[in-house]
Amino acid sequence: MPDTRPYVLSIAGFDPSGGAGILADIKAFEQHGVYGFGVCSALTVQSDTDFLKVQWLSAQEIMEQLEPLVSKFKIRACKIGIGQSMDVLLEVILYLKRRQPHIQIVLDPVLKASAGFNFHGALEDQQLKAVLQEITLATPNYNEIQQLNPDLPPTNAAKEMAKRCAILLKGGHNPEAPGTDYLFTQNSCTPFEPTLLSVSPKHGSGCVLSASIAANLALGYTLDEACRRGKRYTESFLSSNDTLLGYHQHDS
Ligand code: PLP
Repeated sequence: MPDTRPYVLSIAGFDPSGGAGILADIKAFEQHGVYGFGVCSALTVQSDTDFLKVQWLSAQEIMEQLEPLVSKFKIRACKIGIGQSMDVLLEVILYLKRRQPHIQIVLDPVLKASAGFNFHGALEDQQLKAVLQEITLATPNYNEIQQLNPDLPPTNAAKEMAKRCAILLKGGHNPEAPGTDYLFTQNSCTPFEPTLLSVSPKHGSGCVLSASIAANLALGYTLDEACRRGKRYTESFLSSNDTLLGYHQHDS
């Protein structure tokens, strides 16, 4: 029997605890009924609570892993997590789009692990703009958007960035409306309010959200609906148990 599941790709770090990065993304993909490919952008040494080390892979090494996949399969959507620099991400994204012109790309701009490890120092503004120009959606939280765009308040920064691609500003760290995410496009702003009063923090929750959105895009949902579904999936993950390592369940 042929496999009719859409192909979705994760380009992300390898986290041996399985909470974040490729392993988290693949678990989420499986729950959405899409087939997940995983390409490694970094090896990390960590548990759910302690981040010890990152070893980056070069753009060349990432593209080498991609080549056999993009030459054989039509990949509908891709989620991108940590990368060594915006330069590396840009090179990989341009290559990917050359090989798969219709691919939809969701970038989770992870700058710092919740365990405290800083992945990046200063980011090059020009490269960031060039990356945004090439993708469908970026999913920064309030801290990330401030680091990416230090001269503007978060909402204005999101509007500015949304001139290049859609921006889902995640509400986890928003002091004014905690938990509400906002989807900014060139001419709209859609709020996604939380449906649960309390959830339990999880390692890798941003990975799960961006993977779920990518899977939903691959399934044919609009960006708006993919974000709404992604939020619901992530809430279910966040409330799955009381530890930092939740389990994946699809109840919608
Ligand atoms: N992606 C990878 C590969 C990671 O190792 C981490 C954190 O360590 C993250 C993403 C972000 O995870 P968290 O949600 O715990 O900050």
